[in-house]
Amino acid sequence: MTGPFSHIDSWVFDLDNTLYDAEAHVFVEVGARMTDFVAAHLNIPRPEADVKRKHFFRTYGTTLRGMMTEHGIAPDDFLKHVHDIDLSVVPQCGITQKLLKQLPGRRFIFTNAPRHFAEAMTAQLGIRDCFEGIFAIEDAAYWPKPHMDTYHVFLKKHGVDPKRACMFEDMEVNLKPAHDLGMTTVWFHGRNPDPAHLNHPHTHHKAEKLSDWLVTHVEKKH
Ligand SMILES: [Mg+2]
Repeated sequence: MTGPFSHIDSWVFDLDNTLYDAEAHVFVEVGARMTDFVAAHLNIPRPEADVKRKHFFRTYGTTLRGMMTEHGIAPDDFLKHVHDIDLSVVPQCGITQKLLKQLPGRRFIFTNAPRHFAEAMTAQLGIRDCFEGIFAIEDAAYWPKPHMDTYHVFLKKHGVDPKRACMFEDMEVNLKPAHDLGMTTVWFHGRNPDPAHLNHPHTHHKAEKLSDWLVTHVEKKH
């Protein structure tokens, strides 16, 4: 690698909407299952459960953390139920398959999703063998990004030096702790980025999506 990424030896990837497009299928399915779970567990109608989920997401970062903190649920029941969906319709990306493994150094997934889902999704995408490790929500004691302690646990568990690590994310808020720890950051802003979020100092580099960044920074040198 050349330029601003020449010192990087660890590449850290978010999963949903970073390594694949989650909006088209997965977020719809998982979201509906989360609403079902909240409605059934709290014995409230689905519209009310949707309002609850928005509150949980804003306050705690995930529906799971909200249900754990406010209602004392067991995380495994929730994670098994809501992520048990058919992934066979999620398309593979030939550019990502080809170029991801050419990034020199160690590669990791750092996700707020559960381990079984991250394993199944990377297998579906045909990129499982690109990664040395998957750091899932169970590894973070269910404290999601952007909770700072979770970043410390990730770095320590895998012996990653933040000054030589690059983190990729679609949620710019999750790059703030990475920046504060000295990591290089790349924000995938999608097709229609909110102008209010374009100039944060913690988003060092930007691209619409991962395949664009890979073509620019990996394919060029060959
Ligand atoms: Mg994401």
